[in-house]
Amino acid sequence: MKIGFIGLGAMGMAMARNLHQTGLLVAAWNRTPDKAQSLASETGCLAAGSIKQLASNVDVCVLCVSADADVLEVVGELCRSLESGALVIDCSTVAAATARQAAEMLADQNIGFLDCPVSGGTEGAHNATLSIIVGGEIDNVTKAMPILNAMGKRIVHIGAVGSGQATKAVNQIAVAGINQAVSEALAFAAAEKLPLEKVIDALGGGAAGSWFLANRGPNMIRNEYPLGFRVTLHSKDLNICRDMAAVHGVQLPIVEMTLIHYQRLVEKGFGDEDISSLFRVKQELFSSSST
Ligand code: NDP
Repeated sequence: MKIGFIGLGAMGMAMARNLHQTGLLVAAWNRTPDKAQSLASETGCLAAGSIKQLASNVDVCVLCVSADADVLEVVGELCRSLESGALVIDCSTVAAATARQAAEMLADQNIGFLDCPVSGGTEGAHNATLSIIVGGEIDNVTKAMPILNAMGKRIVHIGAVGSGQATKAVNQIAVAGINQAVSEALAFAAAEKLPLEKVIDALGGGAAGSWFLANRGPNMIRNEYPLGFRVTLHSKDLNICRDMAAVHGVQLPIVEMTLIHYQRLVEKGFGDEDISSLFRVKQELFSSSST
């Protein structure tokens, strides 16, 4: 297999480096060319000058770009340039409908498609410990496994194209709810003037214990919010969840409330912080408390 990588951002650069370790990475393209050039000088892969040039050198193309329109723009170009029989693996987080649209565009040229959104953040991308949620046909999944194993630790094939992105939406709703619960509970604990490190320790072993409490709680109580996962990116994902829920005629309370809270953070200049900065909003609830 000869692999090309498109989208060398915070996630993609680290994922491409891990693919290079397998010896399978042949070429990379990035909209801003210096990132591809820097990966090329580090790994010896080709810094493609265009998507067309990348596509003419590879038979599998991995994407990790920002949002729905970006995926469709890149896939449109790949449709015109990849050979019949090639495979596109999209690791961006987009709507399930976008994944199905991309798959249809590529199928017209006999090119396979898998939606493979990831979770585990930039730490997971660097350490090749991402969870990768896969939607698509089994033959394509089998072909992609060496690539996915190079970038992630837990690879789960959910079902048909789009089911990977739908499952990622499930994940993002759950993360919003956990963030709401932990940040609100710790703001309440602070208002009660409790020793917050001890509170986190006490809760950690019981029903309220969670990865988020253990890994983000200690930062929250110091009012520090290093990345992690950016507020603006989670907002993008929750807007996808909102649109998917609307198809069912439903508004999801956690999604709606979290979008409002994140908008407040963005307006105050905190949109690039980790999502645990929701604690700022929850602390404000107690700012006029008389006790
Ligand atoms: P970044 O903003 O760091 O990088 C985005 C990348 O996409 C850049 O390489 C950018 O190019 C490229 N890009 C954007 N639009 C286009 C376009 N129209 N055509 C070509 N290239 C384009 O984002 P991340 O790496 O953080 O995220 C990438 C994806 O992974 C997103 O969908 C995100 O939701 C998802 N994700 C992110 C996580 C995280 O913790 N950051 C965790 C899990 C998933 P350029 O360099 O020119 O701007």
